[in-house]
Amino acid sequence: MKDSVVSVMIVDDQAPFRVAARMVVQLTDGFTVLGEAETGEDSVDMAAELQPDLVLMDVNLPGIDGLEATRHILAAAAAKRPVVVLLSTYEADEYGPRAADAGAAAFIPKSEFDPDRLAEAWTAARAAAP
Ligand SMILES: [Mg+2]
Repeated sequence: MKDSVVSVMIVDDQAPFRVAARMVVQLTDGFTVLGEAETGEDSVDMAAELQPDLVLMDVNLPGIDGLEATRHILAAAAAKRPVVVLLSTYEADEYGPRAADAGAAAFIPKSEFDPDRLAEAWTAARAAAP
């Protein structure tokens, strides 16, 4: 049943949030953590190397931000484009439209991020995929 497990890469410059995100992923049925990156630049390299199914991307990062990192990851992906979910401490009305422009499948405020929202975002993205 390997194919049914969704592999997740976590990108956040704050260690406490990486820990929290990892817990959410581990509490979500059928999801597993593949790796963690602290910067947008590192996330681009890591996504190319690990080819995750899903990337949890913080918007506010030092260096290139999460929106730009999302564009790079999606542009670099050949056969397997990951689903990117953007996360921010800010509210959805600010970043939602910009997340979509960058190619992200969803935007979730960090305060609302939990296993239900993660599974929902994945299911919606899969349903929208060609
Ligand atoms: Mg941040």
